Amino acid sequence: MKIFFSILLLIVVSCSHIDVKDMGQFKNNDVDLLISNKTLISIKSILENETLYLDQIAETSFKEELKLLLAGIKIISYEKNACSTGQVACSDPEHPGVVFVNENFFLMIPLEQFTGLLHEAAHLQSKNFTHVQCLKKPEWGYECDETINSPYGIEYKYLLHKYMHSKDDLITQLLLKINYRINKI
Ligand SMILES: [Zn+2]
Repeated sequence: MKIFFSILLLIVVSCSHIDVKDMGQFKNNDVDLLISNKTLISIKSILENETLYLDQIAETSFKEELKLLLAGIKIISYEKNACSTGQVACSDPEHPGVVFVNENFFLMIPLEQFTGLLHEAAHLQSKNFTHVQCLKKPEWGYECDETINSPYGIEYKYLLHKYMHSKDDLITQLLLKINYRINKI
């Protein structure tokens, strides 16, 4: 009975959030994703811009690192209640390759949406879905990472790369914000 219940639960969990019928394909520069139609309309242009940007990155190892990360996302699913309160996007061990986003995701500026996807891709790749206590801003709770080799770390590295090419205010602001999320930088 317990096994039956577990299997049933697994099926329910696996099917609860993802409706592939409501999805469109995004394909550009080796990135190939299924995305909820509502989400696709909103993030298509930032995905096009940033996948084009990363394709032009001269440092081959960083470019490959980013492409490998993004290749780990197969589906971006718009789901109102899949993430915890306060989260804008999330991923979990029960849904390999799936990133859930909610309406708060779209309150972020487009570049932040893209780095948010890199963040979730890093969770999926490492299969580590946890964070640690914020040491620079203890009031932010347990929503930080210890080192640069982490979900917030990849956001930082990507923004730093963009900052080196264009020191605009927006990138600078985002970079400073992410800096607080990494304890050892
Ligand atoms: Zn995270």
